[in-house]
Amino acid sequence: MMLHYVCENCGFWQRYFAPRPPNCLVCCDYRHPLPPAGWQFRSLAEVAARLATRWVEVLPGIWQFWNEPTVGIGPRGYLIVDAERGNVSFEGAGYYDSAALDFIDSLGGIRYLSASHCHVFGALWQLVEAFAPEVVMQQDELPFCQAFQVSWPYEDRAELHPGAVLYHTGRHTPGHAVLHLPKHQLLCCGDALKFKLDAQGQATHISTHRAYDAHIPLSHGDVRHYQAVLLPLDFDGVLTPWEPVPQGGKAAATQLFAAQLAGRPFADFLPIRSYV
Ligand SMILES: [Zn+2]
Ligand SMILES: [Zn+2]
Repeated sequence: MMLHYVCENCGFWQRYFAPRPPNCLVCCDYRHPLPPAGWQFRSLAEVAARLATRWVEVLPGIWQFWNEPTVGIGPRGYLIVDAERGNVSFEGAGYYDSAALDFIDSLGGIRYLSASHCHVFGALWQLVEAFAPEVVMQQDELPFCQAFQVSWPYEDRAELHPGAVLYHTGRHTPGHAVLHLPKHQLLCCGDALKFKLDAQGQATHISTHRAYDAHIPLSHGDVRHYQAVLLPLDFDGVLTPWEPVPQGGKAAATQLFAAQLAGRPFADFLPIRSYV
């Protein structure tokens, strides 16, 4: 029998024979730590007994979904509502309960589904099963897409509609991609950018890295590639797989990339200067 199982350590879902998969593809990669107490995999029923799904409209027409408590690294999924051109789902919460799926249905379901990279897929497979969207993935991330069927692989760029365009950045993972929302002046940046927020939710620090947990910086070539792909895009705010940074994200990224190229590579956070 085949079931979906989630890795407690990182939150990656895979489809495998019962009773349990032998290991987790994401945790076996050099970017992630192996689980110190050994593998622990949960079935959907086990996760459903423990987790609830929450959601909030973080910006007008943009909903964020997450879990309490979380599973793995606890990524959050976004739904960008566009009644005319079709709703876009990007990144995934670790688990979607039936109330969350009903709520997404009430907003018009999902026409296009994508994600930046495998670390923050969450339970995309549940959204694919519930809404049968077009599943758009950068082709180098396909080895991690066995839990659901990809209908639209792409290379450098995929325009879902004029208000939602995917760009391949690679580097953090081979298939890493970002979603540009020009109408909202936003970039869903995946793990290309990471922020620290203060108690008021204001971004105070920014970083970029090849591996966050392993604290491995990007090379200068990686940073120049991020500059070339991200900075020509018209955006101000950023949505990471954890939090919205509604303003100043591009200015902070511009500062970070310049600092990265001014000296040796680093994975530490950089304080964000005030741009007021
Ligand atoms: Zn894992
Ligand atoms: Zn990542």
